[in-house]
Amino acid sequence: MSDQIALSRTGLTTEAVVEARQAHGWNELPKPPKTSPVLVLLRQFTGSLVLILIAAAGIALALGETVDAIAICLVVILNGILGFVQEWRAETALEALRSMLTPSALVLRDGKETVIPARELVPGDLVIVASGDTVPADIRLVSATELRLDESVVTGESVPVEKTAGDTSDGGALLMGTGVTSGRGEGLVTAIGRATKFGNIAELTGLVDQKRTHLQLQLARLARQLGIAALVIAAGIVGLGTAVGRPLFEMFMTGLSLAVAMVPEGLPAVVTITLALGASAMARKKALARRLQAVETLGSASVICTDKTGTLTENKMTATRIWTLGAEYDVTGTGYDPAGHIERAGRNVRAAEDPTLAALLETALTCTHARLRREGRDWVMIGAPTEGALVTLAYKGWAPPPAPDAVIAERPFSSERKRMSVVAPSANGHRLHMKGAPEAVLAAASEILTPDGPLPLTNALRNTVLEAHRSMAEQGLRVIALAARAAGADDLDERGLTYLGHVGLIDPPRPEVKHAIAEARRAGIRIIMITGDSPVTAAAIATRLGLGSPRCILGPEIDDMPDEALRTLLSEDVLFARTLPAHKMRIVAALQDLGLIVAMTGDGVNDAPALKRADIGVAMGIRGTDASKDAADLVLLDDNFATIVGAIAEGRRQFDNVRKFVRYLLSSNAGEVIAIAVNLVLGGPLIFLATQILWMNLVTDGVTAVALGLEKAEKEQMARPPRRRDEPILGRNGFLLILAFGTYTGAASLWIFYSLMPLGVDLARTAAFTAMVVFEKMSVFAFRSLTRPCSRIGWLSNPFLLLALAATLSLQLLATEWAPLQTLLRTVSLGAEQWGLIALLAMPLIVVPEAVKYLRSAVTPAPTS
Ligand code: ATP
Repeated sequence: MSDQIALSRTGLTTEAVVEARQAHGWNELPKPPKTSPVLVLLRQFTGSLVLILIAAAGIALALGETVDAIAICLVVILNGILGFVQEWRAETALEALRSMLTPSALVLRDGKETVIPARELVPGDLVIVASGDTVPADIRLVSATELRLDESVVTGESVPVEKTAGDTSDGGALLMGTGVTSGRGEGLVTAIGRATKFGNIAELTGLVDQKRTHLQLQLARLARQLGIAALVIAAGIVGLGTAVGRPLFEMFMTGLSLAVAMVPEGLPAVVTITLALGASAMARKKALARRLQAVETLGSASVICTDKTGTLTENKMTATRIWTLGAEYDVTGTGYDPAGHIERAGRNVRAAEDPTLAALLETALTCTHARLRREGRDWVMIGAPTEGALVTLAYKGWAPPPAPDAVIAERPFSSERKRMSVVAPSANGHRLHMKGAPEAVLAAASEILTPDGPLPLTNALRNTVLEAHRSMAEQGLRVIALAARAAGADDLDERGLTYLGHVGLIDPPRPEVKHAIAEARRAGIRIIMITGDSPVTAAAIATRLGLGSPRCILGPEIDDMPDEALRTLLSEDVLFARTLPAHKMRIVAALQDLGLIVAMTGDGVNDAPALKRADIGVAMGIRGTDASKDAADLVLLDDNFATIVGAIAEGRRQFDNVRKFVRYLLSSNAGEVIAIAVNLVLGGPLIFLATQILWMNLVTDGVTAVALGLEKAEKEQMARPPRRRDEPILGRNGFLLILAFGTYTGAASLWIFYSLMPLGVDLARTAAFTAMVVFEKMSVFAFRSLTRPCSRIGWLSNPFLLLALAATLSLQLLATEWAPLQTLLRTVSLGAEQWGLIALLAMPLIVVPEAVKYLRSAVTPAPTS
């Protein structure tokens, strides 16, 4: 029941706001402390391997091996700095994402309803909250209509509590941070920011959750397994070496560096950085990932369940047709500018000269929360677009505006009821006005208005109404029916109404959606429309958007359907109309049972459970409620379906890139391990010194891997079906590739080592060490794509990679030619001959994969987009 209190609704004046702001400040809570850069830097030195290395440096120092100790420290420091730079970039990218979702509030100021950022609220502001909102400050209610709040953030109690105006206890107070589950209310702000009873900034700003993702866990496990294997092998080698009389310290250092060579310790960090940078690339394309997991899961999405209004369509509604029993009207004009006309048989008509039209427009103008306001030359609409379109329609027909605050009682709209009613004074006493979906309104009507007065609504007339509704909906129009009756001041009984007529609203499809749908389908992603709108309108829009003519299922039909039948149904091409939010939950569950990875959109407060259940819950940044954004993994900053498809493409790119650099890093490590192990069996002097191995792995590899993570999307990535969620990162092909590269680079550096041995072991070792670094850098081109040769991708298309290569090769040049590094890494200058040999042996690493891919792609041409 409504308990609206008459109140002069003007809100604060601009001056009063300024004054209050000076006294109370902004409506903000203390921000959680930012991650300090010092902390991020220190974090680089806490990995177990790094700690072991630091200990090893200590041991080296104790044993008088000062040069080794300094070299280890240098490598650890360089590695730490590189790690810091990358992690700090990721950290600041996430920080920027966090501030993108700023909550807003609807307030009344200077007599106007305005949407402002919630931080601008001051005590004394008159705030309006509605279903789905998070309460933006502490508020004392002055009026409320069936207002219920979920106060679980404060009380832990999840059953919604009713709030009533005039209740001076807690029942009339709304606390900051709690969520409105239904109804509407207006109230005065009593406290803001720090002064509020409770406020959880994390909830309000949509904190980006950094729980570890599936991929990160998978890679951490891989790294752990390799770590254990490395320890066992290293211990074995140390034992073996000392048994055959090698010095213990030398063997300890070799064992340790072998462990470093085997363990891709940087892997989880590189994945995190790649996902974080991926999330900021998505945000630039208007898709805000609230969890890093979303970036990854998006890449494997196999079905998108999407609502229609506002996601597939513009949500810019304009009334174009009116149907009443006895007359039909056309409406001209676009948007919320009331400059158009209502025409009957080609002639302009106004409310004053057509009583049926007048009654319909009175309801359209009274049964609403939308407001139209002129600002300069433009008309601004505040409220729901459906309602805004009806208000604009009433203005076009010159309907007399109701007195401000005319509504004295209300039963609000909800997706479940699909209608709303209000009671307001009219010319002769009070009237109950209703609007909603035609079936919902017809169910409450017993008469229908004609130019000659009301007639009983017989079955034949009901069919006439439904037929008229159907022919409007077939044109893709959204149809809203209007009804009214005389009523007492507090009489909200939704029965015995007079059906006045219905209005057809156009809501044009978003222009980019058709192409996005085609792209998603090409990528093997199914699209299922789930809408609260009528089946006829939904089918018309589906056809227009290139979704074909899927079988249309009504929400109520699936109520009694067993799960098995629903799954069978979902294996075909379908769309759902007249659904309730609860149906989305069942549809997600059934699709997941079919093994599909589901992205589900939602905007209402009741969509939250389905968004949570879906593999990727997608909320709307503009029209979505706070509750839905809170539950979602991904928020579309522009509410646009096409953005989801763009985000999926980005997710696929991220996964591809992670796979590329994991393979790349492991192939580099494999080469080193093979060279070291075979050399030990051959019994020669050490092929790489401990510090050289550390240099290769900690200094030069990580940078190249991160650059590989920035590889652009492959053209055919949206032409293949979605990957399975459990698809292994390596797979058989990946494993064979790593083995092939590892064997070649290992063998080639061993060959260099032994063939240059006659010139001295230092030169041979320096050449083998440099060869390994150069080989690793050159193999990176092969890992840029498993199918496309670089001549197709473009040799220069990833500038970061070229930069990384230039930097690491220059570092290697320093390592062999610059005296201080020569001392630390125990290298000597290489001559042109050795460089030539290295270059020659590096060639096949580029030429062979390139030729294989070229020939393969010539046989099976890659699909082009
Ligand atoms: P979608 O689910 O694709 O976003 P929708 O907006 O039509 O579509 P709902 O919000 O559940 O879904 O609305 C269901 C129906 O209720 C609409 O088709 C319309 O007939 C009716 N309706 C929508 N908004 C209002 C309103 N403000 N007042 C009365 N009836 C409404």
